[in-house]
Amino acid sequence: MSWQIPLSDINFGVEEQAAVSRVLTSRWLTMGEVTQAFEAAFAQAVGARHAVAVTNGTAALHLACLALGLGPGDEVIVPSLTFVATVAAVRYTGATPVFADITSEHDLTLSPASVAAAITARTRALMLMHYGGYACDVPRLLALAAAHHLAVIEDAAHAPGATLAGRGLGTWGDVGCFSFFSNKNLTTGEGGVVVTNRDDLAERLRCLRSHGMTTLTLDRHRGHAWSYDVVDLGYNYRLDEPRAAMARAHLDALDEKLAALRGIVTRYRERLAAVDGVTLPFDDESVLRSGHFAFPVVLADAETRESVRATLLANGIQTTFYPAITELSIYAEAGREHPCPRAEDFAERHLALPLATVMTPEDVDLAVSELAAALGG
Ligand SMILES: *Cc1c(COP(=O)(O)O)cnc(C)c1O
Repeated sequence: MSWQIPLSDINFGVEEQAAVSRVLTSRWLTMGEVTQAFEAAFAQAVGARHAVAVTNGTAALHLACLALGLGPGDEVIVPSLTFVATVAAVRYTGATPVFADITSEHDLTLSPASVAAAITARTRALMLMHYGGYACDVPRLLALAAAHHLAVIEDAAHAPGATLAGRGLGTWGDVGCFSFFSNKNLTTGEGGVVVTNRDDLAERLRCLRSHGMTTLTLDRHRGHAWSYDVVDLGYNYRLDEPRAAMARAHLDALDEKLAALRGIVTRYRERLAAVDGVTLPFDDESVLRSGHFAFPVVLADAETRESVRATLLANGIQTTFYPAITELSIYAEAGREHPCPRAEDFAERHLALPLATVMTPEDVDLAVSELAAALGG
């Protein structure tokens, strides 16, 4: 389908193409100097001591759980409003995810009260997710974690370049995880990165990323090592050099991209403020430091959402919505044990509007006027 206004876009130019072709010419294709340079640049950009590039965001989350030693018998508190990989990563280790609700339709991130109510003697870790690129209530959640000796993992898949109090999201907890999947703001098709300020975790993450081996092929090629030992049950979660080159080029362009998306979100909010029957989550101040992964609006009920979706579709305007995890078949039972009514209510009533760098101010105005028309305004 060719959309008049697409939900999102991938914005890359000659820099990315040149960077990838330089790698191909170099004939060193995986985990080499380009990946190391990207890791250093990413760590610096978000303000972390270490960055470990990986195959995808799900692998980042899995490695984070493994590096923290999570396993069978451990409970990990997870948001009900997230992508399913946040929860699957916990399950891969044998640990049990326990769902917590969102704060409200105005703040779609983890509710500290809901987290507090979910803590038991078996709770070992808390998984934060910065929904849409908007920061969780990090100070209160970190205080809760500290009081109960919980490790903190941040799923920052929506949040590269986003900050809170001047500090990068993903760098507040023990480990932060990012995804470079196609629809993310920093993309390589598939890819991801884990960041941490802890030297012990960084060492474990690097080892587990590459089969639990003590040396890299690169070290052996350079003559720094000639053999290796295997000291842990590791994985092959490495990132390759062409993707690292693309990631680096996108990282260099990220601020500019976020500024463009911020302009679109600001115009949406100005125009939508005059439309009755639309709730805008988060506030104008949080827009300034968001990672702008999505622009969700909340409508009166599921029927209204459907009629708005259909009207926008008829005008070539693409929209989507994200289910709550506790509504998915595989987690329905866990959701009955730990109900998350606010997340499920939001999931039924929201619509994510187009948020793409190719959008013009007129595109925003058109989407808003069609939305208002669908609401009878
Ligand atoms: C995209 C995403 C992931 C998974 O990342 P992949 O790179 O697709 O594996 C995890 N969590 C959230 C919140 C995401 O949006």
